[in-house]
Amino acid sequence: MKEILIVWDIDGTLINSGGCGRDAMEKAFYKLFGLEKAFENVNMAGRLDAMIVEDAFLNHTIMDADKKLFFDTYCETLKGILEGKDYIEILPGVKNILEHSSKEHNFFHALGTGNIERGARIKLEVHDLNQHFQVGGFGDDKVERWEIIQRAIHLAEVVHGIKYMKENIYVIGDTKLDIECAKILGIKSIAVATGSYSAEKLAEYAPDYLLESLEDQTEFLKIFN
Ligand SMILES: [Mg+2]
Repeated sequence: MKEILIVWDIDGTLINSGGCGRDAMEKAFYKLFGLEKAFENVNMAGRLDAMIVEDAFLNHTIMDADKKLFFDTYCETLKGILEGKDYIEILPGVKNILEHSSKEHNFFHALGTGNIERGARIKLEVHDLNQHFQVGGFGDDKVERWEIIQRAIHLAEVVHGIKYMKENIYVIGDTKLDIECAKILGIKSIAVATGSYSAEKLAEYAPDYLLESLEDQTEFLKIFN
């Protein structure tokens, strides 16, 4: 029996968030600084919230911004948005995978996301997914994305009292950034084309495994045999 750790990206991998993160950031920025569409020229896919927000501050030459206040406003706005509309869709097959218990392997799931932790938990709450993720690495601080994954692995090992073998650790995500993190850390990558990258585009970054979606559970589980 293998001890398998899967570190999950959120947007485009577990859920389609319908742009609620961008929407909440724009609204929070407007509330605090009276500026509309402040994130128009900021790339968000696969990036850390801490860096996304810093880019927006820089673009508008806001030098002494209170990041904590910004993220408080963002979370409050995000909650409000998600109460009002069915923004978030759980992606096909995700629930089956998370609820799957295997006789062959022990699966443990962690988060590895550019979202700040509070934002991630608010998004996952909508479909009651937090129960599957005890620990994770998040985009609260300005670090490299691979450091977030490393943190998720470390916390998973602490919680389980296990040292996972590198070949049994998988990063699953929808952008080249997720694939690159896995390569840097010497662990496996599973790229899934349910987010902002097509399968052809993801293939250019040579993930260990490439799936159109997570809908076919048999295909997904084959990875671990
Ligand atoms: Mg993503």
